[in-house]
Order: sequence, then structure tokens, then C-alpha cells
Amino acid sequence: MQDILLRIGKVRENVRIAAAKAGRGISDIQIIAVTKTIPVERINKAVSAGLTVLGENRVQELVEKFPLMNGVKWHLIGHLQSNKVKYITDKVELVHSLDSFSLAEVLNKKMQLKNSTIDVLVQVNVAGENSKFGISPDEVIDFAQELTTLPNIKVKGLMTVAPRTDRPEEVRPVFKKLKDLFNSLKNMEIQGIDMKHLSMGMSNDYTVAIEEGATMIRLGSAIFGPRDNNIQKEI
Ligand SMILES: *Cc1c(COP(=O)(O)O)cnc(C)c1O
Repeated sequence: MQDILLRIGKVRENVRIAAAKAGRGISDIQIIAVTKTIPVERINKAVSAGLTVLGENRVQELVEKFPLMNGVKWHLIGHLQSNKVKYITDKVELVHSLDSFSLAEVLNKKMQLKNSTIDVLVQVNVAGENSKFGISPDEVIDFAQELTTLPNIKVKGLMTVAPRTDRPEEVRPVFKKLKDLFNSLKNMEIQGIDMKHLSMGMSNDYTVAIEEGATMIRLGSAIFGPRDNNIQKEI
């Protein structure tokens, strides 16, 4: 499992360089270790290297791993169905994938019953891909304003999943656009909305995302290796 430590070292170096290019420091960027399909022993290796914020995109997997991991924080990064809300509200620190008002209403109601609140990011489908969840960029500001009617939902920023590409420069405009939206919302100073997180960038495009202002990057294969190869790598 030495491979994980080597990859993390490489990632940290890349983060440092990309951050420096943008006049930022490594501490301005939080690395979320994306643990989907990864067994607990391998996740623990990343945790031991200091990556203690973990992201899962499926509720089922998060619920299974949750009791097995100590000293970590969980983020839900994938699409959340309303009927699964009840499984995650006592487990996750941040939902990156708020993508509809009806989901927000269900989350709000659940948190109201618990006399608590939940932090969320609004997922934006910047590139307008049919295959992706998220609010259309034109609707984000209205959507965020509408969310302020739900007092137990706390909007903390925006998230996007850029189109898959081997040439990260191609998706730079996607990150730029999300950053512009982020700034617009921040400048509006909407009561109840605290714009502090910009979750963008994955294994193949995180350096570009950092250059464009990401504060959270979500990394799976850059840390754990190719997902379909994990079993082989174990040997
Ligand atoms: C799987 C996943 C990631 C990480 O993907 P990698 O390309 O392995 O870094 C990031 N964000 C979301 C929403 C994901 O589902």
C-alpha cells in the first residue's frame, strides 16, 4: 500500500505548485479523498497520511463504511435521493450535491425535526451535460435565494463535476464560470448564505481547478489508483 503514500506525496506537490501559480497556499485547498469502491484498509492508509476528510458518492457505501472508520469526516459528493436523506443526516458534515428544491425541502424538514442544520453546496451543471445532475448556471442565483426560505439548510458554496477529459485545459472555462457564479453570489451577500467553499476538480483536472479558485478538490484515483485496478494493487 506504499503506492497510496507515494501518490499522496505527488498530489500534495502538485497542489502546492498549482496554488502558488494562483498566489495561494496549500492550506487554502482541502483535499477530499474519494473512497468509492475502496476497501477500508486502503482508506486507512490515506487517513494515516493526514487525509481525514472522505467523500462518498453513494449513500449505501457511506453507511457501510461509516462505523468502520474513526477520526474522519464524511462528505456526500454524489446525487442524493430524497428517500435516502434519513440515512445520512447524522453522518455527513457537508453535502456537495444539492441539486433540486424538492431535495432541499426534504433535508430541511429532517433537520427541523432534529432541531439542527445541515451544510450544503449547490451542484451546478456548468457544461449542461444531460448525463450530469445539477442546477443550470442561469438558475443558480434564483435557486440559492429560494433556499433561504429553508432555515435548516445552510448554503456554503458551489460544486461542479466537469466533463471527462484527458486534456484538463479544455475544462478551464467550466471552472472559470463556476468561480464567476461563486463571486456573484458572494458579492450579493444574501442573508443566510455563506459563500466559502468552491468544490471543483477531480484526479484528471484538479491543478487547473486550483488555478481557477477551487477550495475543495475531490480526488479518487489520484490517491488510490485506478478504481478497477485496486485489487491487483493490493498485492
Ligand atoms: C468519483 C468522483 C470523484 C473522484 O473521481 P476521480 O476521477 O477518481 O478523482 C469526484 N467527484 C465525484 C462527484 C465523484 O463521483
